Amino acid sequence: MDFTLSKEQRDIQKAAREFALGEFLPEKAQEFDRNETFDPAIRKKACDLGFVGVFIKEEYGGAGLGFLEHCLITEEFWAVDAGMGNAIITSSFGAELLQLFGTEEQKRKYLPPLVSGDAVIGTAITEPDAGSDVTGAITSAVRNGDEWIINGSKMFITNGTIANYLNVFCLTDPDNPSRHQRHSFFLVETDRKGYQANKLHGKLGIRANDTAEVSFSDVRIPASNLIGRQGNGFKELMAFFNLTRLHICAMAVGIARAALEESINHIKKRHQFGTPLASFQGLQFKIAEMATMIRAARNLYYEAAWLTDQGSMDHALTAMAKWYSGQMAVKCADEAVQMHGGYGYIDEYKVQRIYRDAKIVEIYEGTKEIEKTIVAKTLLRL
Ligand SMILES: Cc1cc2nc3c(=O)[nH]c(=O)nc-3n(C[C@H](O)[C@H](O)[C@H](O)COP(=O)(O)OP(=O)(O)OC[C@H]3O[C@@H](n4cnc5c(N)ncnc54)[C@H](O)[C@@H]3O)c2cc1C
Repeated sequence: MDFTLSKEQRDIQKAAREFALGEFLPEKAQEFDRNETFDPAIRKKACDLGFVGVFIKEEYGGAGLGFLEHCLITEEFWAVDAGMGNAIITSSFGAELLQLFGTEEQKRKYLPPLVSGDAVIGTAITEPDAGSDVTGAITSAVRNGDEWIINGSKMFITNGTIANYLNVFCLTDPDNPSRHQRHSFFLVETDRKGYQANKLHGKLGIRANDTAEVSFSDVRIPASNLIGRQGNGFKELMAFFNLTRLHICAMAVGIARAALEESINHIKKRHQFGTPLASFQGLQFKIAEMATMIRAARNLYYEAAWLTDQGSMDHALTAMAKWYSGQMAVKCADEAVQMHGGYGYIDEYKVQRIYRDAKIVEIYEGTKEIEKTIVAKTLLRL
């Protein structure tokens, strides 16, 4: 068994780390967090250096690398700043689906601009009344001659106000007796008449990253914008999530590393009772536990990503990695604030932002409860 990364993978990791340290400056990260904004020029720079969409095949403009490499970049970005890291790395959130199920024409048209930074994509599944239960989505797509007409609304859509196009999960076959064969994906360009996006303000964390409520009012798209097969949307979504959930694990490990780093720096510097905080065994144990949990989470996602890249994706392992790494990140962020005492509660200190940013990894793309359900159902063969 070999757990070492190749030289190329270590080079990618190092380059991503250096980029993040150079660009995600503390004052910028704080400004974007406070104002819920981001500078797209930083995203463009990251694209020019090849950090976005490395898993996209070379014929579609990417580097043709594995999903593990995409995760390595994400982990380094999140280890420096989650909000800015996410604003960059999620600009290709949906390319996975297009690469898996898009037509040749769709892939050639829509994937290259994501890699070059000339376009941003998003994937719209969640609705006001359909979150964990994606089969409850009622945004409809109705065939009309050579077109589909889309109506409905989607909630919490990453990049909703900035995306050039979205993969939209729509109800196309409401009468199918199987809840798993009623939906289909469509590529919807956001400049089409009837599309509207309203930015959501006041998020707990990852505030540099755009999140929106979006709506479709008689949005007409050509029949050729169907992604994959009509009625096969649920299966396609599960295949997509099996990739993107690995990505969330990398976010979790990255932010937990940041929590650990901040904690170590703080407890070595601050003195109480005439000695550095780091001399107290109670705090040493926290450091040991955080480092161990980070290592365990990373090993889980490395294995899951490696198997996926080998073509042997393990659905339950990916779900284990997602819930465990999410819980681990939230726990590490909590301990980091605790070790900072009152200072950890203040906006000026980075751990305060880490604490807020970390929570999302337990929620999006399958809450930790849903991930545990997947693991249990696999074990119980339900
Ligand atoms: C910042 C942000 C960005 C997001 N980006 C996107 C995006 O780009 N695209 C997109 O489509 N969505 C996106 N989402 C939505 C996200 O994926 C959903 O919020 C998530 O899937 C949970 O759905 P929900 O919020 O409706 O919660 P609910 O489904 O209402 O769940 C509420 C609680 O009940 C629990 N629960 C639900 N069902 C079960 C069950 N069967 N067993 C046990 N517990 C259960 C959940 O685990 C959770 O704790 C984003 C959300 C946020 C906050």
